[in-house]
Amino acid sequence: MPLTCHACGTRVAAPGGLCPACWAGLELVAGPVCDVYDTPMTQDAGPGAVSARAMEHPPGWNRARGVTVFSEVSQRLVHALKYRDRHEVAPAMARMMVHAGRDLLADADLIAPVPLHRWRLWTRRYNQSALLAGEVARLSGKRLAPDLAARVRRTRSQVGLGQSERNRNVKGAFCVSPQHTGSVMGRKVLLIDDVMTSGATASECGRALHAAGAAEVDVLVFALVSGGA
Ligand SMILES: [Zn+2]
Repeated sequence: MPLTCHACGTRVAAPGGLCPACWAGLELVAGPVCDVYDTPMTQDAGPGAVSARAMEHPPGWNRARGVTVFSEVSQRLVHALKYRDRHEVAPAMARMMVHAGRDLLADADLIAPVPLHRWRLWTRRYNQSALLAGEVARLSGKRLAPDLAARVRRTRSQVGLGQSERNRNVKGAFCVSPQHTGSVMGRKVLLIDDVMTSGATASECGRALHAAGAAEVDVLVFALVSGGA
């Protein structure tokens, strides 16, 4: 099997994921960022600094980190994993996530994916966030809790919805099942997802984990849609 770039399919010399052009097209999150939303800040106020948006609209998680800003290349990687059954992309994406989320991973007790509703899981056959969570746990040596949170309500796709509609759409959609409340209590949970758009889904999932007694809920994603709240 020839080695090919995970994003564009061109031949590459060594295994590792991306061709030089796609590497260059990946817009890594860098510079001073908000500790809560991982969005760029105009001034470097030091570690732990939070944006005005985080103060005005605190989400249901504590800290979030992403590898890249959503771009053509990151979209291709996400789609390869999500819709094209390219499971071999997960380790490459997870390696980058482990690097971008190293401060969150250092503190985490448990790694958990943002869950899909069982109907969507059935039609799509796998949860791309669970694949990433498994790889992040394997690479970091942290404990994986694959079904820590459950999606108890089926929600419509968030695509095309505004912020308040997105918040309403996922309200009360998650819960921590009774058999897992013991493992959540007092623990620091790192939630894994492929993309964060509005943050409404991760926020609602974070709220459910906090309600179940989690000491902290952080979020690590591959791609952040810039400007999303
Ligand atoms: Zn490429």
